[in-house]
Amino acid sequence: MTIAATSLPRLPFDASLTYINGAWVGSSSNQTCDVENPATGTVIATVCENSKDDVDAAVQAAYRAFHDGPWVNEYSGAQRRDALLGLASAIEQHRSALELIESINVGKPIADVRVEVDDTIDLFRHFAGYADKVEGRHIASQTNQKLEGYTVKVPVGVVGFINAFNYPLNLLAWKVAPALAAGCTVVFKPGPQTPLTTQYFAYLLETTGLFPEGVFNVVLGGAQVGQALVDHDLVDKVGFTGSVATGKHVIRSTASTANVRATSVELGGKSPGVVMPDVDLDRTAKLVVSGCMSNTGMNCNALTRLWVHRSIYDAFLPLLKAAAESLVLGTPQDDATEMGPLIDRRQYDRVLEYIRIGRAEDRASVLTGGEPLEGASGYWVRPTIFSNVSPEARIAKEEIFGPVLSVLEPFDSLDEVIEVERRNEFGLAAGIFTRSHKDIAKFTRKMRCGTIWVNNYNALYSYLPFGGFRNSGFGRELGYESFDGYLATKAIIDDVSSE
Ligand code: NAD
Repeated sequence: MTIAATSLPRLPFDASLTYINGAWVGSSSNQTCDVENPATGTVIATVCENSKDDVDAAVQAAYRAFHDGPWVNEYSGAQRRDALLGLASAIEQHRSALELIESINVGKPIADVRVEVDDTIDLFRHFAGYADKVEGRHIASQTNQKLEGYTVKVPVGVVGFINAFNYPLNLLAWKVAPALAAGCTVVFKPGPQTPLTTQYFAYLLETTGLFPEGVFNVVLGGAQVGQALVDHDLVDKVGFTGSVATGKHVIRSTASTANVRATSVELGGKSPGVVMPDVDLDRTAKLVVSGCMSNTGMNCNALTRLWVHRSIYDAFLPLLKAAAESLVLGTPQDDATEMGPLIDRRQYDRVLEYIRIGRAEDRASVLTGGEPLEGASGYWVRPTIFSNVSPEARIAKEEIFGPVLSVLEPFDSLDEVIEVERRNEFGLAAGIFTRSHKDIAKFTRKMRCGTIWVNNYNALYSYLPFGGFRNSGFGRELGYESFDGYLATKAIIDDVSSE
């Protein structure tokens, strides 16, 4: 298959620099990092890789902006609201360039990126609405009438964000919009594979002229840069999105620094879906395939463990196969494309290794896919479905982060599914497809997951909190819960009888 090498549009900023303390600066170590188009495997830009000293400069800038600058000390909530609304408008004005860059850098179908940018704009407007609604409570003493107690909510301070590569712009908005609305200042590190729209975002924030220097800073690079940010003692909160292994390391690191600090970690998943016998099988097969293969399976909440009731198992599998085989793979910038490549060579090798592991499973077999896309030079793997997989097989239990669905051995009762899923190490999401309200109620009550989809999968909107149980992490993004996560509570006790 021929995949076109779409050219990157001209960037309105210098990609070899990053944004620290209101200025574009290079790396003090002069290190650089190549950025690829994963659809072709070719280099599209070279960005700087920051040093530990650069991270220190960014955190110091955010610290000064927080303690001494106008963002926290002079701006009202309404002024911060207006700044965020201005930023949303700037993103909207530049959306076509952002969409194209995101599509090229992530290898994501342009139609999906348009939805992501819509959501990003909406998120900034949504959280702008919280900025002027920071409220405390009056709590009366029941024993001493001379005392007045009340709470005030204050921003937690400097937030260090570390992002995954898979939704560079959207996940940035999940984090940055509520943090800025709450009055925090930010140092943000994108995934090393996908820095370009984060830099573009910094450029837009600068051009609004509404954010004082040091309020938002970007550092670029991989593990060492992330580690320097996590270890910095002037960071008050760490917000991390990534794999379980790195997330556990981040939690240990934040507990080992001189000051303990608030941490939220959004980690991986191995999310189950359950198909009961009373549904429209054709429609459900399409929903399952898109629930798994959307973003080439590189979704933390991807539906990757599928339970199909024994009475429909044989009828359902050919529909799943047909739905997977009908997905349009092609140049991500074409409107018709539904699935793109994996992000890089490492992820490509990892997915092929899991397919090899699946093929070696005793009873499982490949229903469709199971191989790279022939003739393409980037990181392409065909949508792959294994059937008759034991729930204990590695491909059924471990996060693959690619277009690989494990259809488990058939089941007979929902209780049996719930019992097995209790041992799932993750708890990010789950889905059920049925008309039975009794089964829906049982499933939504018993499953220990942050998000449960009923007769749909993957639908998200900014106002609903998102996050995990168990190894999928803790803390919530989106919705009021995430905004509240960037606020700390102070209790004030006033002796009103004093002069
Ligand atoms: P990753 O863990 O490899 O990297 C995540 C980020 O951590 C990157 O920016 C990386 O540079 C940084 N990092 C690496 N080592 C570090 C260290 N020692 N200290 C600090 N930072 C460090 O994950 P990835 O491959 O970028 O993303 C895929 C993973 O992210 C999957 O497991 C996926 O499920 C998860 N994810 C979760 C959510 C969610 O909301 N729960 C959303 C998207 C992705």
